Parts: sequence; C-alpha cells; structure tokens
Amino acid sequence: LEPKEEFEHSSLAVDVMRPRRGDPALAVLTQDSMTVGEVETLVESTHYSGFPVVISQESQRLVGFVLRRDLLISIDNARKRQDGIVSASLVVFTEHCPAQPPEAPPPLRLRGIMDLSPFTVTDHTPMDITVDIFRKLGLRQCLVTHNGRLLGIITKKDILKHMAQISNRDPDSILFN
Ligand code: ADP
Repeated sequence: LEPKEEFEHSSLAVDVMRPRRGDPALAVLTQDSMTVGEVETLVESTHYSGFPVVISQESQRLVGFVLRRDLLISIDNARKRQDGIVSASLVVFTEHCPAQPPEAPPPLRLRGIMDLSPFTVTDHTPMDITVDIFRKLGLRQCLVTHNGRLLGIITKKDILKHMAQISNRDPDSILFN
C-alpha cells in the first residue's frame, strides 16, 4: 500500500467491507456446531482465503480466523491419518469438546490452526485509520464488527480497489499525492 494516498474523510470501514448490500452473506464457520462435511462444502463452494469463526450463526460473536489453506490441509491430513474422522465428525475450535451422543464419530479439533486474535475495526472506523493499521501491522485482512457482532471483512485488495475508485472519481485528489 502506498503511504501517500489520502482518503476522503467520509469513507468508513462499513463502506469498504464485504459483503456489500445484495452480496451473499459473509462465509463463516461456527466454533463447535459444523461437521467436517459441512466445512468442506463451505470451503469448496467459495474461493475466499480465510474464514472468520463465530460462536454461533445467531450470535455472530467473533472467536477467531482460519486460513483456507490451513483448513484444507488439516482436514485432508485428519481424514488420511486420524482414526475415525469422517464427514459426520464435528469440527471443534473450542478448548473443550461439546458433549456428543456416544455413537458419534470422534471430533476433529482445529483450535491449533485458528488465529485467536484477528484484527478488527468497528463499522464506523474511518478508512484513513484502517489503512494506517493495515500498513503498520502488515495486515492481509481485517474484520469489521458492530456492537461485538461480526459484520464483514476488508482485505488488502479491497482497500486497493477502493483507492483506485476514489482517484477515478476525484482526479483533484491526485494533487495531494
Ligand atoms: P482478496 O481480496 O485478496 O482476493 P479473498 O480471496 O480472501 O482475498 O477475498 C475475495 C473477496 O471476498 C474480497 O472482496 C473479500 O472482502 C471477500 N471475502 C473474503 N473472505 C470472505 C468471507 N469469508 N466471506 C465473504 N466474503 C469474503
């Protein structure tokens, strides 16, 4: 990211984050209620590089963030090498496994591949501050919340696209670069 590009003061994280209005919902994983098969279906039906993990679909409380490639490698390894891991196995990102019926297959524990403190900003954070954080911390993505509920995601590419749009719309802003 070029350090000199300036933002219109009116741009907020909520204006740049995905999903946009009308887009499919944010693709999230739940911390202890999805099966290996459900996680595989979600990951394979999208191309996103990562997925926020939330407590539950209803709460949308953020727990962490997992990279697509780590998920795919871990599931693949577990299916090959870990006894009893099947499509119906529960995927568990919590420290302790939830109680399951005795006949249930063993759970797949994936807490180890989750980033426990992904960077977040609130929906009303001005974009100039968000960009500063991206630069200073070298972020690839950042999650957007409102009152503790997960709303969306901003990637480095989303910011670069937003910058390009601003300079197209407002050629005078180039004077300040
Ligand atoms: P990049 O922006 O570098 O292409 P991704 O492939 O992860 O990175 O994301 C592609 C687009 O999808 C971006 O606009 C991003 O904001 C959005 N996105 C990323 N992860 C998710 C997700 N889990 N659910 C919904 N949208 C996402």
